[in-house]
Amino acid sequence: MNLAYAALAFVPALAVGSFLNVVASRLPLGRSISKPRSACMHCGAEIRARDNIPVVSWLLLRGRCRDCGARIGWRYPAVELATALLVAACFAEFGLTFHAFAGAVFCAALVVISATDIERRIVPNLVVLPAAVVVLALMEAWKLSIEWPAAGLGAALFLFLAALAYPAGMGMGDVKLALLLGVGTGKAVPLALFAGMIFALVPSAVLFARHGRAARKMKIPFAPFLALGGLLALFAGHDIIHWYLH
Ligand SMILES: [Zn+2]
Repeated sequence: MNLAYAALAFVPALAVGSFLNVVASRLPLGRSISKPRSACMHCGAEIRARDNIPVVSWLLLRGRCRDCGARIGWRYPAVELATALLVAACFAEFGLTFHAFAGAVFCAALVVISATDIERRIVPNLVVLPAAVVVLALMEAWKLSIEWPAAGLGAALFLFLAALAYPAGMGMGDVKLALLLGVGTGKAVPLALFAGMIFALVPSAVLFARHGRAARKMKIPFAPFLALGGLLALFAGHDIIHWYLH
């Protein structure tokens, strides 16, 4: 039954992913996300409806603008597909519940934040803070508990102290992201933060191997790794904690 909900959610979630691309492209530039209509970032030609089908259009156009041939980054289909798969996974895992809707908003926010952090080293306040509020409200609707706000504030405080101790490694964007991770995963949030830090060690080690001491000055985007940790905690946190304690 849950798989039916997941299948039903998939196509609308692709459309949400398409909207998230608009958010990821325009928000960091301070542009409106409601108008004008989508246009090629290179030549300004308006995107035709038939070229605006998530994932499919990008493949048919081989990642190029129909008008000027400029490359359309793989971020577009990646964001659409990731959003659709993650939202579908939420409904498959949690059924038709407030928890699934909370998970869907949580995942969608993590996808946008990862895209903007990779492209521009920005964790947009206009995404992370409203997402934290909406996810908190949906989690409370699912299960009324102090767990969600407590985990959110605890995780934010932890990263705030880490950012004070090591300002080069983390920013306030990561602190706000920790708040979102906490309200979305509750007591599994230490797992999210810990896993995020472990995941981030991989590219750090690669940079260090390639560039030696100069790597210390290179900044890697941390949000995508925290986001991966958050997904692990959302989907497997309960099982992992259970396995660890027994
Ligand atoms: Zn163009």
